[in-house]
Amino acid sequence: MKLSNETLDLLPDDVARPGYDRSDLSAGIVHIGCGNFHRAHQAVYLDDLFNLGIGHDWALLGAGVRAGDAKMGEALMAQDGMSSVIELDPSAKSARVIGAMTGFVPVASGNAPLIAAMSDPGIRIVSLTVTEGGYFIDPETGTFSPTHPDIAADAANPDAPETAFGAMIAALKARRAADVAPFTVMCCDNVPHNGHVTRDAVVGLAQLSDPELAGWIKSNVAFPNSMVDRITPATGPRERALAESFGLEDAAPVTCEPFRQWVMEDHFPAGRPALEKVGVTFTEAVDRFETMKIRILNGGHAIIAYAGGLRDIEFAHEAMADPQIRAYLDKIETSEILPIIPPVPDTDLSAYKQLILERFSNPEVADTIRRLCFDGFNRQPKFIITSIRDRLTRGLGCDGLVLASALWCRYCYGTTETGAEIAANDPNWDRLVAQSKAAKTRPAAWLEMSEIYGDLSKNDALVAQFTKTLKDVWARGSQAVITDYLK
Ligand code: NAD
Repeated sequence: MKLSNETLDLLPDDVARPGYDRSDLSAGIVHIGCGNFHRAHQAVYLDDLFNLGIGHDWALLGAGVRAGDAKMGEALMAQDGMSSVIELDPSAKSARVIGAMTGFVPVASGNAPLIAAMSDPGIRIVSLTVTEGGYFIDPETGTFSPTHPDIAADAANPDAPETAFGAMIAALKARRAADVAPFTVMCCDNVPHNGHVTRDAVVGLAQLSDPELAGWIKSNVAFPNSMVDRITPATGPRERALAESFGLEDAAPVTCEPFRQWVMEDHFPAGRPALEKVGVTFTEAVDRFETMKIRILNGGHAIIAYAGGLRDIEFAHEAMADPQIRAYLDKIETSEILPIIPPVPDTDLSAYKQLILERFSNPEVADTIRRLCFDGFNRQPKFIITSIRDRLTRGLGCDGLVLASALWCRYCYGTTETGAEIAANDPNWDRLVAQSKAAKTRPAAWLEMSEIYGDLSKNDALVAQFTKTLKDVWARGSQAVITDYLK
């Protein structure tokens, strides 16, 4: 039965549904980028809050700035804004219908409807998940790029912007003119210091067309940093079949692991929903949680990815079922990563690491190794090389992390260890393949990619270790080298 307000009561008994009257809700948040993660994370927390009978003036208005968002909006509004979310607990999968979204802003060139929606005084938060690549960060400098063509276009045409940031600036300008307090911008993307990065994009773009407005935004708009976590696969035939098995006819179902975490700074001058009542942590120590997550979880994914990819393993849980890969991950995490993570409030790092091993092993999530191998160019510097750098600075060894980096290099050669070809799997794939080919005879060439390794190619000890490791991987294969590491 097609999901809608009318059919909610007719859903099978084992599907949980909103326990509140949806007609009571009013919008307080515009969310830009209603992909899978948003609907498995922020929308679920809000649904939990509404189920407690509170915060009903914080419902979501979905929005987006891309053609795909228009399609998503149509699909969601055809089912009255609702989404089904299936939690992939290996012992008992469960389904629920999330009712936190009450409308979807029409997606239009020039974004007039989005600007109007964000100018409404009832909207007090604009949140966004527009992917890590959506922030116009120059890979060379790691900072906002004012010369990106999309940014230059919005700077030249600030009243009809095409980017999310241009639309926010236009709405903030309209609010200021109408004497309406600004909304808080709540970034929920997996980007280190995501609030600062979003502020740099908004203020940086405003600076190009209206420096005075840029200064006002900088002084008056809050951009809290946050750490978000929940493994949420893309929706394909497997996920659709799962939704159907629950008797759900949903055009855009979402599946996700049972675990979720959300840690945020409490900077919301225009108010916020009482998310602390449904498990969100508000703290000034977001950077601590972020470091823990990026080094242990994302770093962990990068460790199993290339070891698994070189052996033609398809899924993360299959890599985790290989005793050698599991032990390799555990040893690097325990002996090289955990010791350099600063303490995190109310968190036992060993228990966190153990939980990560279990989360990666969940066969229901079916996260692909190929997805985890994607975009090492951008991911390795954040997830692995920062840990290498920290250990070297402290005079500590990092054999396992260097091995992880060498396996990435070997993967970028473009073939697995059985000789199978690896299809391009990085926005910078051709460059990485060329560098990997050069590194086969002269491993130091790999470390000379300064956007990735910075000045580490000048560290003689690291160059020697990497050279020995990569040569060994080529000579004896990754499994033999990992076996030696585990001794
Ligand atoms: P998705 O592909 O389902 O949705 C991505 C959304 O971002 C879409 O609405 C798309 O239109 C929009 N988008 C993409 N590029 C954009 C751009 N340049 N400008 C504006 N909008 C843009 O992906 P998802 O699974 O929802 O993940 C989105 C983000 O959520 C991730 O990139 C990450 O930062 C964060 N996240 C995801 C997970 C996960 O497991 N999926 C976990 C933690 C955090």
